[in-house]
Amino acid sequence: AKAAGRNNYQFFTAAMNTLITERQQIETGLRQVLANDELRLHYQPQIDIRTGQVVSVEALVRWQHPEFGMVAPDRFIPIAEEIDMIIPIGQWVLETAMAQLAVWRAAGATELRMAVNLSAHQLRKDSIVADITNVLLKHKLGKGALELEITESVAMQYPEQNARLLAELRQHGIELAIDDFGTGYSSLSYLKLLPLDRLKLDRSFVKDIESDPNDAAISAATISMSHELGLTVVAEGVENEAQLVLLSSMGCDLVQGFYFSKPLAAEECFRFIQRNL
Ligand code: C2E
Ligand code: CA
Ligand code: CA
Ligand code: CA
Repeated sequence: AKAAGRNNYQFFTAAMNTLITERQQIETGLRQVLANDELRLHYQPQIDIRTGQVVSVEALVRWQHPEFGMVAPDRFIPIAEEIDMIIPIGQWVLETAMAQLAVWRAAGATELRMAVNLSAHQLRKDSIVADITNVLLKHKLGKGALELEITESVAMQYPEQNARLLAELRQHGIELAIDDFGTGYSSLSYLKLLPLDRLKLDRSFVKDIESDPNDAAISAATISMSHELGLTVVAEGVENEAQLVLLSSMGCDLVQGFYFSKPLAAEECFRFIQRNL
């Protein structure tokens, strides 16, 4: 038993060492990620449920790591936040997404909107409004071109400060969406404080919406509350027709998910957009 315990211990430290070096490799790699040009954006269409048209796309970042291959954002964004790399990475995402939107608009998707995810750290940066509006100016993008997605927990962190900041962004025609709505364990009070345009119903409610009456009730209530507050609703993670039919019957405005398209590289996404303009 003693020998086994010792072996387990050795195994454990070996595993720990692997974890630590992998974490260190991610950190080191992240500091070089922009210099090495290893980030890519994929784009996922958001479809108007009534017309079937693509009205918006969400930019989702990927890291093409030389050794680990494609690293998912859930794995590296939190680390990028810890080591203060999220600011330059977030700025790269914004710049790349807006450059892409300008190209697509010039190629015929004249009304297309781009949604970009914003981390808490970016919102706390003093120059955030100037940083964003300069990118819009550079690419000659006006009102309604950019939508920022922030999560409930980010929105709730400094509600009064955020309200001022978001109002300023909105004056520049930047739209605002609450991401992962319903998962933040927060009160709904921020909904009346913040100048919002949209709620994104989290995919955890959409997943079993056909079989779970509670999920259906939460979805329906979220949609009707949003409409009464003057907000539109995007349902995330729509994977099949039954979910789409149900969400449509509830009056949901926009849908996003694998049923329509997974996040796509730029060229492929534009072909999808053109088929559904
Ligand atoms: P999110 O903002 O909630 O993005 C939606 C995620 O759901 C994406 O994962 C997308 O690929 C996935 N998804 C879309 N449709 C479906 C579906 O029908 N079924 C299922 N099961 N999943 C679906 P992804 O691309 O791995 O991104 C994960 C998270 O990483 C994002 O969640 C967002 O929080 C974060 N993220 C991605 N890009 C950025 C970025 O540029 N900046 C920041 N700060 N965060 C980002
Ligand atoms: Ca999002
Ligand atoms: Ca989301
Ligand atoms: Ca999410």
